Amino acid sequence: MSEQHIPYKMYLNENEIPSAWYNLRADMPIKPAPLLNPGTKQPMTVDELSGVFCRELAEQELDNDTRFIPIPAEIRDFYRMYRPSPLVRAYFLEEKLGTPAHIYYKFEGNNTSGSHKLNSAVAQAYYAKKQGLRGVTTETGAGQWGTALSMACSFFGLDCKVYMVKVSYEQKPFRREVMRTYGASVTPSPSMDTAIGRKINAEHPGTTGSLGCAISEAVETAVGTPGYRYVLGSVLNQVLLHQSVIGLETKAVLDKYGVKADIVIGCAGGGSNLGGLIAPFMGEKLRGENDYRIIAVEPASCPSFTRGRYAYDFADTGMVCPLAKMYTLGADFIPAPNHAGGLRYHGMSPVLSELYHEGLMEAVSVKQTDVFEAAELFARVEGILPAPESSHAIRVAIDEALKCKETGEAKNIVFGLTGTGYFDMLAYEKFHDGKMTDYVPTDEELAVYAAKLPQID
Ligand SMILES: *Cc1c(COP(=O)(O)O)cnc(C)c1O
Repeated sequence: MSEQHIPYKMYLNENEIPSAWYNLRADMPIKPAPLLNPGTKQPMTVDELSGVFCRELAEQELDNDTRFIPIPAEIRDFYRMYRPSPLVRAYFLEEKLGTPAHIYYKFEGNNTSGSHKLNSAVAQAYYAKKQGLRGVTTETGAGQWGTALSMACSFFGLDCKVYMVKVSYEQKPFRREVMRTYGASVTPSPSMDTAIGRKINAEHPGTTGSLGCAISEAVETAVGTPGYRYVLGSVLNQVLLHQSVIGLETKAVLDKYGVKADIVIGCAGGGSNLGGLIAPFMGEKLRGENDYRIIAVEPASCPSFTRGRYAYDFADTGMVCPLAKMYTLGADFIPAPNHAGGLRYHGMSPVLSELYHEGLMEAVSVKQTDVFEAAELFARVEGILPAPESSHAIRVAIDEALKCKETGEAKNIVFGLTGTGYFDMLAYEKFHDGKMTDYVPTDEELAVYAAKLPQID
């Protein structure tokens, strides 16, 4: 490895942490469709959104024009604890695959929450504190977002109430305890504490919950508790904005070493890590300065991009959130208990949905046993034990590298390694014991939920 020009770990310096987030929407000729008020069906205003989100975040949510938004000093200081994150040249993986491709991954698992979600959690907690709020509520699926938010809230001295999807609450007691270590209160969802939770429990006895339902519970609690607002860890424009720090660092360090990416790959749950990773690359593509292949990877059990409809839909089961135009499987869709909890959301970021709709990016869906096969191979050669979510991107990065082996092309493949999988060992256990299944919904099943989409022209 010593004769290589590119080191195994490509670092930026601490003072090269970006000083502004990049708002990709400013460079989109066709903007993502506006969020609609679920009552009036009119575009949401900052004032309306401010009832649910804190003011500055509501402004970021609706800002389609400001290209760079400065990162406040307090947030940059927090970022110093774990950023810049390394971009790794996957020499060992390349060797194992025997591919001429060059594979790079941006590793976001180097913090206690174990994922990229901390990048937005700290921003959202900061703005809530600055506004003088007492606390925030949120939902969490696999637990990464709740963990990240708990860390950020304890740092800024905010109360944090987390509704955790029941299946994860039961399967992942350790994540729950990490959240409690950082002072958060954690409630399994659907709970009996909220009107929507009681309704869902009555209609679906024994349900293991869904993100859409947990969101409704968190919003209901935020709106009903003085001094509280709701925060969300994915899907929203503001979250993609904060996550642009991933892409900005990646682009900066590649530029530093003179590497031009050919393919950029990321897993997509609600689209925040992918939206953040691709932002500067897509910006160049939109401005006609460079071309990149951009690939979203989603689970075959929850295929929003590849089999969903591009339509206005509710972000949550309880229909209290604004309507968003996005690729969606329908707000009532509850995916099979796939082991990548962070990829079980029915919808997709409106920004990415618009880009996909315009053919500016691709999407593929992969089966979970194929994902775990890639995860294990990766762990054995690169050392890092990847999160199941992140392993969706690994799967497709490997597939693309194997295509290069056939064609003899030395493409530069960059993927987002969003986190570590230490809390996902039950899933690994199922895989090792040969008990993991590959549930893929039928067209008939998906049609039932698609038929229930709200009719908005
Ligand atoms: C939450 C999560 C994801 C998916 O969320 P996005 O908003 O689509 O990025 C991916 N990987 C990890 C490790 C996560 O925690």
